[in-house]
Amino acid sequence: RAKHEGRGGFRFFEAAMDAEAQRRRQMELDLHDAIEHGHLFLMFQPLFNLSEGRISAFEALLRWQHPERGTIPPADFIPLAEDTGLIVPIGAWVIREACRIACDWPDHVRIAVNVSPVQFRNPGLSAVILQALAESGLAPERLELEITESLFIDNPQTTLASLHSLRNLGVRVALDDFGTGYSSLSYLRSFPFDKIKIDRSFIIDLLNSDGATAIIKSITTLAEALGMETTAEGVENAGQLDILRAQGCSHIQGYYFSKPIGVTEITALMASKTGDEANPRLEPTDMS
Ligand code: C2E
Ligand code: MG
Ligand code: MG
Ligand code: MG
Repeated sequence: RAKHEGRGGFRFFEAAMDAEAQRRRQMELDLHDAIEHGHLFLMFQPLFNLSEGRISAFEALLRWQHPERGTIPPADFIPLAEDTGLIVPIGAWVIREACRIACDWPDHVRIAVNVSPVQFRNPGLSAVILQALAESGLAPERLELEITESLFIDNPQTTLASLHSLRNLGVRVALDDFGTGYSSLSYLRSFPFDKIKIDRSFIIDLLNSDGATAIIKSITTLAEALGMETTAEGVENAGQLDILRAQGCSHIQGYYFSKPIGVTEITALMASKTGDEANPRLEPTDMS
């Protein structure tokens, strides 16, 4: 009887696995479809330069307009795209689309694009970037690639070599989600990132922990000594902004300044949020 139940349990498990495998298979088919029919699109979130008092860049954030399920956020489909390799053509599309859109903006406004580890390790990445720059006419230094620390875990030497060859194309490189992964200071010394993006988890803690403020201070001090900019991610209220400014953070990004917006809203936002140096005319939504 015990044996019988065990087999039943196993069959139940098998059925559940089948359902999960099938769900993933269907999603993979849907994702192929989405690429083919142009159901992927980009939203753009501004990065605000605190000392200049103006928007310095927009980060391209991928969305999937699913015919039945509505808008799907990247967290729900990028892992699958990475497992299946679909992130390579999707990521190439993101780079081309982002460059195409950004070339119409003022020269001082950059476009930041997230590059998945799978895409980074693909040998075709440089060619994709060169083609996107050539097609759009965007100056290379206006394209900023965001990569994550996880790339340094497996093969730091190969990662460094690839970073240097990307840098030789003239593009900028930012370290995204800093402090969440395999945080070692050695690779900050080995590669001159243009920017460090401090992960949102540190910003969330700012108002209730002195430790978080000390961490921000040490990151901005280190970054400045290494000639790197800093962007605080996920800034949601004035209290966080005040601390970040006081601790020497150079840029902010977050719902307090602006949520990700559609391409047609960008020009209006840029026009409304330019201010003088001392007093950036922020028109924020306080999320606290
Ligand atoms: P990320 O690169 O760290 O991007 C920041 C994420 O934080 C975005 O989520 C953004 O909407 C969200 N965010 C910004 N400000 C705030 C805030 O004040 N509060 C809160 N709660 N969230 C805020 P999103 O768009 O869902 O993207 C999630 C992640 O998906 C990104 O994290 C990035 O790792 C990945 N991703 C997005 N687009 C792409 C892409 O084109 N390619 C690749 N490979 N990954 C992408
Ligand atoms: Mg990013
Ligand atoms: Mg980030
Ligand atoms: Mg993040």
